[in-house]
Amino acid sequence: MAIILITISYLLLGAHSVRGGDFGLATFFVGCLALAMTKERWAGAVTTVVLGTGSLIWLLKGSELINMRISLGADWMRLGAIMGVVFAVTLFSSALPFAPAGRKWFIRDFDKMWFKAAIFLLTAVFLELTRSNAPFPVLLVDRFFPGWGRAEIFLIATYASWIGGKMFMPDGAKKMRPLIWSIFSGAFFLQLALGIAGFDKFLMTGNLHLPVPALIAAGPVFRGSGFFMPILFAVSVLLVGPAWCSHLCYIGAWDDISSRIGGKRPDAKFPHALIWVRLILLVLVVAVAWRLRANGVSGFDAFIWAAIFGAVSLFVMFIFSRRMGMMIHCTAFCPMGIAGNILGKLSPWRMKISSDCNQCGKCSKVCRYGALRKVDIQAGRAGLSCTLCGDCVVPCASGCMGYKLPFLSSELSRKIFLVLVISLHCLFLGVARM
Ligand code: SF4
Ligand code: SF4
Ligand code: SF4
Repeated sequence: MAIILITISYLLLGAHSVRGGDFGLATFFVGCLALAMTKERWAGAVTTVVLGTGSLIWLLKGSELINMRISLGADWMRLGAIMGVVFAVTLFSSALPFAPAGRKWFIRDFDKMWFKAAIFLLTAVFLELTRSNAPFPVLLVDRFFPGWGRAEIFLIATYASWIGGKMFMPDGAKKMRPLIWSIFSGAFFLQLALGIAGFDKFLMTGNLHLPVPALIAAGPVFRGSGFFMPILFAVSVLLVGPAWCSHLCYIGAWDDISSRIGGKRPDAKFPHALIWVRLILLVLVVAVAWRLRANGVSGFDAFIWAAIFGAVSLFVMFIFSRRMGMMIHCTAFCPMGIAGNILGKLSPWRMKISSDCNQCGKCSKVCRYGALRKVDIQAGRAGLSCTLCGDCVVPCASGCMGYKLPFLSSELSRKIFLVLVISLHCLFLGVARM
């Protein structure tokens, strides 16, 4: 009975969307119905939120139509009764996943309920806000099939919740993070290549620049405009700390791949002081950008400077990161890495080591960012170069290593962090284009 009412409610909302010409939204509702058919608890929680919001659509539409009829002097009672029933059924259906009848249907994966539902909903909200506020179609599907963008929102949000299921446990997260990071980087550069090849729908604005992270800081200094990337970087760092450098950057994924070639373990001899080279380089690239601007240097000449910097970046990645099994480019060369590490201190996220730690050092053997020296472990926290990648959680058999938010347990902190970072990751997957 519960699933029949839920089906009717979704189909009514889908039909209403088709009538309004929003085929993407109709796909979203039908997609949510398909998710409900999986019987997973998180899909039930999504149903509660989506149908609860859907009932508001009926409420607003009903009052609009009734007002129209009243202003025309026409009979509105029958219409009011029909809209009232539709509203009541949808609202009632939204509560069903948490009623006894709904609990008998949504029986699978109870423990992941709020976690996967939160990731799905947050990703959908992020994408919807971006789509509705951008002055041009930001989603790829809207470019090829105008008006179908919400179908893409459904697909990406479903992908996000799937990632959430895989990363629910720390060992799954350790395997999935490099994979989704590479997929994101691959999608970014594939679109760039197609855009350059002439398929301009794969470009965002078509204002090409070199995909060198240092330009996030240096670009606006040289141009005196274009602050979108620094703002995006700052917002993401405030939300998820330095996790930009372990989940969100399209170039960092290359360094990650390079450091894993041959299955090398991170080199314990990494001279930690090298992390400060990035600060010197940050000051240098900003100063050079400012100087080039002050001297009226052309955009092409500035491009050459940036290209040289990018070429050295690649050299560092493919020689040093590969040899040392570490993210040498990100930890000792990229200026934005240190910016993320320092600004990340403004966010509440930390990797903490509990007092039960026996100093076995197993966690430091997997840290590719050189953030777990002996002195860090003794101090009970990860060092400055930590990017919240989470790889060190798995090897700590005694459960001493973990994410920490003030007043919350390590496990809950980790789940909240993952909800945020996976949703942001999938938002970037949907909109990161040049
Ligand atoms: S250090 Fe630089 S290249 Fe590495 S992930 Fe961060 S911004 Fe990207
Ligand atoms: S300390 Fe842990 S979370 Fe931080 S970078 Fe190293 S492995 Fe990743
Ligand atoms: S693996 Fe755990 S117990 Fe061992 S040093 Fe790291 S935090 Fe301490």
